[in-house]
Amino acid sequence: MTPPRILVTGGAGFIGSHYTRALLRDPAARVTVLDALTYAGNRDNLQPAGAHQGFRFVHGDIRDVAAVDRLVAGSDQIVHFAAESHVDRSIADGRDFTETNVVGTQTLLDAARRHGVERFVHISTDEVYGSLPSGTASETAPLRPSSPYAASKAASDLMALAYHRTYGLDVRITRCSNNYGTHQYPEKLIPRFVTRLLSGRTVPLFGDGSHVRDWLHVDDHVRGIELVRTQGAPGEIYNIGGGTALTNKELTGRLLESCGYGWEMVDRVPDRRGHDQRYAVDYGKIRAELGYRTARDLTTALEETVRWYREHPHWWKPLTEAAAR
Ligand code: NAD
Repeated sequence: MTPPRILVTGGAGFIGSHYTRALLRDPAARVTVLDALTYAGNRDNLQPAGAHQGFRFVHGDIRDVAAVDRLVAGSDQIVHFAAESHVDRSIADGRDFTETNVVGTQTLLDAARRHGVERFVHISTDEVYGSLPSGTASETAPLRPSSPYAASKAASDLMALAYHRTYGLDVRITRCSNNYGTHQYPEKLIPRFVTRLLSGRTVPLFGDGSHVRDWLHVDDHVRGIELVRTQGAPGEIYNIGGGTALTNKELTGRLLESCGYGWEMVDRVPDRRGHDQRYAVDYGKIRAELGYRTARDLTTALEETVRWYREHPHWWKPLTEAAAR
């Protein structure tokens, strides 16, 4: 059977590039990446995808109606990662978040509908559920996003579901917890702290460090997305978790140890505005219905991630230097 032609948006970013490289392990795969190459996109993340005969990279914007229309016309399925993804940037200025995450998603959904795309996997986030004082959020929990980023993701997530209910488009939503792994732009907590420590710089810890996040290795996330794409059901939402909740203080302790430093390298900084205290997803549905299991152990995978940053300064130093200018 000929494999579907898959359009991956945001495939030059952190998770999208891992996902694309995983798809391209199949020599018969047919994958087009559409990416605007914002500060977070990096074509090097896709190496060695260029050598694969079924791979094509298109530099373009998901808000560009004509470009999206042309690409979607030649696609059977869409896996949609492209987004403005950093909470702190959304607090500083949220406009790009609404434009890319909401309007860009709607542009893709409209094209998918026009061209009868057979499947649309929308990558959402556990941040749509907002902060949970206790317990876990299942897929039916109310959406209470806190930051402009989370609100824009909730809006796009609901828009995708609306296209299923209104037009019958086969939309599948994933809501995952915090990802970590190689090739993550050094503004998110783990790569930021690691690259600062590897440069001999202190790390900024928000507030008292008691905020709780569940950590999901990007390989496990990629496997979860593939289960949803290939075996999930239309109109369904699937939470994807890692099962490893840590306070930011605990995580910082682990990163300090991996990099050979103590707490003298930590600066306490005022808490982020509207900072969610705790995220926790119940991912029993994807486990029960699609057989999802995590394979990566946090301790080993975190060590491996730190080692990758240590061994790849040529990947992150230009990014941290550009951000400092
Ligand atoms: P990222 O910021 O590393 O990558 C985003 C990619 O999208 C970049 O390559 C960027 O160039 C591209 N992009 C941005 N705006 C675009 C536009 N207008 N048109 C085309 N391309 C555009 O993000 P990530 O961490 O890989 O996240 C991928 C998806 O997963 C996002 O939708 C994000 O909301 C979601 N998510 C991420 C996490 C996480 O922990 N990283 C957790 C939950 C959900």
